[in-house]
Amino acid sequence: MLHSYSGLTSVREMTCIKLIFSQRPCLKVGRLVAAAFTSCRRFHGELVTRESGALPIIHHSKYVCDLPPNHRFPMGKFPRVLHFLIKDQVITEKQVWVPEIASKDILGCVHTAEYLDSFINGKINEQEQRRTGFPWSEGLVRRCRYETGGTVLAAEVALQRGLACSTAGGTHHAFPSYGSGFCLLNDLAVAAKYLMGISSPKRRILIVDLDVHQGDGTAFIFKDEPCVFTFSVHCGKNFPLRKQQSDLDISVEDGLEDKEYLSTVAAHLPWLLETFRPDLVLYDAGVDPHWEDELGRLRLTDQGLYQRDLYVMKTVVSRGVPVATVIGGGYTKDIDKLALRHSMVHRAATQVWRECGM
Ligand SMILES: [Zn+2]
Repeated sequence: MLHSYSGLTSVREMTCIKLIFSQRPCLKVGRLVAAAFTSCRRFHGELVTRESGALPIIHHSKYVCDLPPNHRFPMGKFPRVLHFLIKDQVITEKQVWVPEIASKDILGCVHTAEYLDSFINGKINEQEQRRTGFPWSEGLVRRCRYETGGTVLAAEVALQRGLACSTAGGTHHAFPSYGSGFCLLNDLAVAAKYLMGISSPKRRILIVDLDVHQGDGTAFIFKDEPCVFTFSVHCGKNFPLRKQQSDLDISVEDGLEDKEYLSTVAAHLPWLLETFRPDLVLYDAGVDPHWEDELGRLRLTDQGLYQRDLYVMKTVVSRGVPVATVIGGGYTKDIDKLALRHSMVHRAATQVWRECGM
């Protein structure tokens, strides 16, 4: 058997609470578009130039920071994603929204005051730094805070326009009180908690995490939160060794290829949307399930990843549910090749935007 549906047996009891049908009607895409020209001052960011009716892209030049030479993390990919999107005329600069830095208050929705104090002020000890994979620096703190601000802004804009894509984000291994696996702040959790908390009744948020690694930090953070549903499809033998329990975990075997992977996602996403009835989907479009990825163990192709992204966004948007996307993990030494791979989610989103008349 190429893959197992072990997650089906591990859906928590909490899931039945989360699956209660929402009484509120679904927003339709047309209504979202009608609301598109509200003032951007209410967002945690600004539009670089003039108002644009095209797909919103969230990007900040401070998504990057310096790392020691030969560091394993491909930091240079973030500006290259935007570079290729503009160079290939997928987007124009008018589509770019610039996020604010995530405030301590917003980060405090998820992270403990003690952890924020030690991370922001450089009191992380060596052992803790090793766990994160990064040497601490002020630049690293700034980068992570802008990245989290980017995901918050993407989610806010998506609620208004139906779809929005950041050029970073997906730091799903960060826990409330510590960082892990290249993740210092959990951007997905911060965005979900913030947007859930400022609405009444609370928004229902579905996190679709298709990074090859389990979204363990996110799963832990929302394990007792009925308004957020965590769905993770990941390689069972990959990091993290000790998995947390998402609301739905689909653990797949090494070597899974496009067709089986896509059918695995398609077997679950529609019924999750129909039963949980989210007000917003946060989509982690990690490209580390790719066959060439240094840290993945699956065998997806570029085409397979594009089809996956297209399928997820079309399936969600066609039900009138807004989607915000983050790029998630991707690890290849060739930065340009990797950035092009990450840009597929924005290319697929552009196609969805056009085909769905958004
Ligand atoms: Zn990953």
